[in-house]
Amino acid sequence: RYAPTDRTTVLEKRRAHFGGNLSLTYAEPVMLVRGWKHYLFDEWGRPYLDAYNNVPHVGHAHPRIQAVAADQLRRVNTNTRYLHPAQTAFADALLSRLPGHLEVCFFVNSGSEANELALRLARAHTGAKGMVTPDHGYHGNTTGAVAISAYKFNKPGGVGKTDWVELVEVADDYRGSFRRDDPDRARKYADLVDPAIAALTLREQGVAGFIAETFPSVGGQIIPPTGYLPAVYDKIRAAGGICIADEVQTGLGRLGKHYFGFEQQGASPDVVVLGKPIGNGHPIGVVITTREIAESFDNGIEFFSTFGGSTLSCRIGSEVLQIIEDEGLQENAQRAGAQLLQGLRALELQYDCIGDVRGMGLFIGVELVRSDGSEATELCTFVKNRMRDRRILIGSEGPYDNILKIRPPLTIGSDDIDMIVTTLDGVLAEAAQ
Ligand code: PMP
Repeated sequence: RYAPTDRTTVLEKRRAHFGGNLSLTYAEPVMLVRGWKHYLFDEWGRPYLDAYNNVPHVGHAHPRIQAVAADQLRRVNTNTRYLHPAQTAFADALLSRLPGHLEVCFFVNSGSEANELALRLARAHTGAKGMVTPDHGYHGNTTGAVAISAYKFNKPGGVGKTDWVELVEVADDYRGSFRRDDPDRARKYADLVDPAIAALTLREQGVAGFIAETFPSVGGQIIPPTGYLPAVYDKIRAAGGICIADEVQTGLGRLGKHYFGFEQQGASPDVVVLGKPIGNGHPIGVVITTREIAESFDNGIEFFSTFGGSTLSCRIGSEVLQIIEDEGLQENAQRAGAQLLQGLRALELQYDCIGDVRGMGLFIGVELVRSDGSEATELCTFVKNRMRDRRILIGSEGPYDNILKIRPPLTIGSDDIDMIVTTLDGVLAEAAQ
């Protein structure tokens, strides 16, 4: 057990011994020592409503996750160089929820590692190097993943874009080049991929593939117009590349109506990347691809991850998938998400500073604007912190950090949704004074 320590001491020690760019959320950081479902408790036992974290997908401290973890740790926890039925059971559980052409699973330890591997698959399969990706995306903290994450490489202090990457504008039909009044906006956004492909070809990088968060999250909780992804995928495939769907934020039922984001788009990816929620807090990343792509990668060099696909990870991953079903969490995401959107849209009518309310299931963004329609960054920071003072945890996103991000565990209930809406109403009223 860790020694009981007060928050100030922890903060001081952290400042002394951790890197300065390990960020802390909120002006007044929270210390959280217990969790239960979609609630978190600080060192005084005060409850917070967790309306932000997607990792505890089936809820914090789920008893079934505790039970399988303890059970497996008592038996054995080893790696994929040995046979174990838990590995194949986890693969079966994943594949049964995915389209039939996706047949091969790779297990790693994080979303970053999974995207790094997806890049290697794309290159092994195509022999090309170049990648097309939407602006403001995030795919992870490793060297390769940062190179395809404009959210990182284009920040002050970032290394800038490498010559094997081309960015396309995010298909944001609220603020971007083509808006909701344009019925042809999906095609127009997809057409932006043409010059990106041409640029990679001109630089002799070739087109290894396209990677995108199916719904861009750090880019501002964006839902691309229907038909966008299939049109992009057609262009990428025509140029010889493969299509990677980063479903780390959107997968596993969060969207309510759809188990995966690419289903909403009617798109058929060649590679699907899973992370965060699949382990419910235990580190798991998964890459799922076609037999052909896996065979191109199987070129004589062994692929091995010491902890990826460990017996423990496979047991936990399977249990998460089963809990989503047993507890009807996808249906709850749809129900709770619809209630939340309805409440937020009522606030939108009341407050001019809400420019847009968008979302699907429990993937929701509230874009805050100034009277001239520009991004209300300071207001967003104020609202996020005041919500925290009232013990509701939400986040903020977008290139100008003016979009409130609401993305709770899928267990969240109707009373909690009411509390979010009522509290946000109070905070916005306070801000208006
Ligand atoms: N892809 C997406 C869409 C993500 O949101 C994240 C994490 N925020 C990652 C990849 C990276 O995952 P990890 O932090 O587990 O490496």
